[in-house]
Amino acid sequence: MMPRNGSDEAVLLYAFTCGYITLPTSYFIGGEDGKTKVPACVFLIDHPKGLALFDTGFSDRFVGLEKGLGKIVDMPKEHPIADRLRALEVDPDRIDWIINSHLHLDHAGGNHMLPNATIIVQDSEWQFGFTGEDGAYATEDFDTGQPVKRINGEHDLFGDGSVILFPTAGHTPGHQSARITTATGEAVLAGDCCNFRRSLDEMRMPDQVYHADHYRGSLEKLSQLRRAGAKIFYGHDPDFWAIVPQAKKIDLKAL
Ligand SMILES: [Zn+2]
Repeated sequence: MMPRNGSDEAVLLYAFTCGYITLPTSYFIGGEDGKTKVPACVFLIDHPKGLALFDTGFSDRFVGLEKGLGKIVDMPKEHPIADRLRALEVDPDRIDWIINSHLHLDHAGGNHMLPNATIIVQDSEWQFGFTGEDGAYATEDFDTGQPVKRINGEHDLFGDGSVILFPTAGHTPGHQSARITTATGEAVLAGDCCNFRRSLDEMRMPDQVYHADHYRGSLEKLSQLRRAGAKIFYGHDPDFWAIVPQAKKIDLKAL
């Protein structure tokens, strides 16, 4: 397939599942009973000026783990992001950027497998990750020694408008999403500001959020983008994710 750094083709997008977690459904969408097993969704963005990942899924430390968090995290041995990349003949050492939507352990767990990447994260998210106020942050996962570029607000990653990071706070203080312009249309990688397709259809939040007004505002932003024709990639939607091809160039028109 790839890689094809140096060519000036349009941006290419690939999706991978990097582990699963089973949690009460109300954690994803408010007021619902039962539990849902959801994927940790990771994207490779292949741009002529470099390779970027949007989130990195769970750490390989969960492979085979049955105690503690291992009871709710399912990490098949071929799921760590480094293995996903190698299966596509992409050396993990070649990843230039890690865009973390936020630093929860299902989004930043693979950071340590990408030694030459610069992590790009909202400054408020980076700072909050160290406060210990939220048990879903594991510093061992996200503070792994690579350079960290901390941003405030919108950021044009490659300077040509094709990969735009923008704040979508609410789930966490410094959550961000990405708009990607590809040859087949615009994709919005939402992350956890919008867990399910019906979160957006019905403008519903999870039972617990960091900041409800910010969360609602982020859903509003996504809703506008969707009305304008963007394809939204919801953060943890098992039904939507089932139609997204894995480890293959994504054609937005086919979704
Ligand atoms: Zn998540």
